[in-house]
Amino acid sequence: MADGKLQVGNAAPRAKAATGDYMPADVSPNRRVQRRYSIRLWSVRHARLLEWFYARFAKAFLLLHPLWKALGYQRVEAPVTFVEKHVKGLLFDCRMCGQCVLSSTGMSCPMNCPKQLRNGPCGGVRANGNCEVEPDMPCVWMKAWEGSRSMMAGDAIMAVQKPVNQSLRETSSWLRVTAQAASEADADRATKSQGT
Ligand code: SF4
Repeated sequence: MADGKLQVGNAAPRAKAATGDYMPADVSPNRRVQRRYSIRLWSVRHARLLEWFYARFAKAFLLLHPLWKALGYQRVEAPVTFVEKHVKGLLFDCRMCGQCVLSSTGMSCPMNCPKQLRNGPCGGVRANGNCEVEPDMPCVWMKAWEGSRSMMAGDAIMAVQKPVNQSLRETSSWLRVTAQAASEADADRATKSQGT
């Protein structure tokens, strides 16, 4: 506000952004207007392929559990988070909530919903299937439904998601899922050995 004017939208707001409402710099919902969502939409269209790939990737990550354990999960958190953030940022516009639900949402990240709804769309979806808040953006939940229909485990979209635990932001979902799967496998083995 150095020149005495309120800053509206981001540095280069388009006509539809000029509503006159004050909008702090860099938090405008219009900042994504210029994006074409092409990669995100590609991921939804190829949800089945990504589901197949992720299943194998998760298995490989789990096989590396002894390595993560030897190095220390805490120590590998930063580099793994860095890779996860960039890979998923490119493919899904990932916001690093730390509690990934892509496998249950047709590979459409619900954190891209401006209202961050984790359990389906709001009542404001436009007739053309776009978002109420960001009119140029396809509703992430419309896309989630489309993507889920091509997935083997697509009905997982019906599962109710827990509220986002904000304390897990910017942490690696890959590592947490792996650590959890490893501890479940250990518990299984312990139960079986007690039974013999
Ligand atoms: S659900 Fe969370 S971790 Fe998964 S892609 Fe979206 S922001 Fe990233």
